[in-house]
Amino acid sequence: MSLSQLARSISESPTLKLNETAALLREKGEPVIHLGGGEPKSKAPVDAIVSCSSLLATGDVKYTPADGIPALKKAIIRYTEEHYGRLAAAENVIASSGAKQAIMVLLHAILDPKEEVIFPVPYWVSYPEMVKLAGGVPVPVTARDGGFEPAVEEIAEAVGPYTKAIMLNTPNNPSGVVYSEEFVAGVVELCEKRSLYLIMDDTYNRLIFDGRAPANCYRFSKEHNLDRSKLVVVNCVSKMYAMTGFRIGWAIGNRELIRAMANIQSQQTSGPAAPSQWAAVGALNGVQSSIESLRLTLENHRNVMVKRLSAMDGVKVTKPGGTFYCFPDFSAYEKDSQKLSRLLLEKVRVVTVPGREFGMEGCLRLSFCGAMREVTEGVERIRWALDPTAPNEMFLGDRKLVRDWR
Ligand code: PMP
Repeated sequence: MSLSQLARSISESPTLKLNETAALLREKGEPVIHLGGGEPKSKAPVDAIVSCSSLLATGDVKYTPADGIPALKKAIIRYTEEHYGRLAAAENVIASSGAKQAIMVLLHAILDPKEEVIFPVPYWVSYPEMVKLAGGVPVPVTARDGGFEPAVEEIAEAVGPYTKAIMLNTPNNPSGVVYSEEFVAGVVELCEKRSLYLIMDDTYNRLIFDGRAPANCYRFSKEHNLDRSKLVVVNCVSKMYAMTGFRIGWAIGNRELIRAMANIQSQQTSGPAAPSQWAAVGALNGVQSSIESLRLTLENHRNVMVKRLSAMDGVKVTKPGGTFYCFPDFSAYEKDSQKLSRLLLEKVRVVTVPGREFGMEGCLRLSFCGAMREVTEGVERIRWALDPTAPNEMFLGDRKLVRDWR
């Protein structure tokens, strides 16, 4: 069989693969703790379900405009005004099948072959593959201090003649870090000076802890006319409303770009599924209390996870300021994150995501979006597996484990 060079250069999403592995093990009755997940456990808001069901009840489910139904665009415009203080026109908005598709059509719309997209390390696993799919070259930038936020100068040093865009995700998957205002402001300024696109992936920006406010990149922009701006904000209903399966995301940008993205989307998938768009309308226009309730639950889980991990000797934990991910450094125990992740799955049935997938060795991404029991028991099993001073035996349900690896 002959496959394209492109197909051969793209790897499978490791996080989706881990979901499959966890589900298969669970089906076999294995007591798996899934700390590799990327979606809240809570249910979609009732307003989303009612709105979606109303469409389904008519039986009249048809194609929609390629860039989304007017009611969804209206809801997104209202959301943008409320949370970003920017008044977008319908032509500045495209609704896509998830933030993933919004980013994908955006990259297709801006990249010529070999043009580069810069993003900080650690990065969301899909960024490098998505840039490659669009024919571009991913340029990850690692902070010299080994931390989760490079200096603006380090980003600036990576800018070259082929640079087309910089992509920031704050709060960040996988580190949970909320980038400082100075960093976001500095990157906005850099992009405006060098006429680069700035893609702000705000997927998690409502899930922020410790009373902090989400970064509003527009605040740092000198360009107040959306149609002259190269700033593109991407968001979705996936995480904040726990609606990952509906697959609705969007982008706000200048109308020329949005038109190009809509053209690409019209040839690729057409408009997103109509029931999902109506579900997103319901969520965006409905009662908003589910976001705060999710945020509070996650903050509580974050506190418990960080406390328990910090109690482990040698584990370096940076307290996540948002999202539902923690990215502790386990290199004192094992430098090879894939090896460590495999060991934890094989020996104590805890699913984690190796840091290598996010461009940073030595760390593991642990999600705290599951039940509290998963957070506490998951960390406890990791501690038992790694701590040479822990008792030699542990029970997983009624199965006795005896440590044979250290
Ligand atoms: N950006 C980031 C940083 C994400 O973590 C994800 C989902 N894991 C997405 C975008 C994609 O979101 P969606 O499910 O809406 O496509």
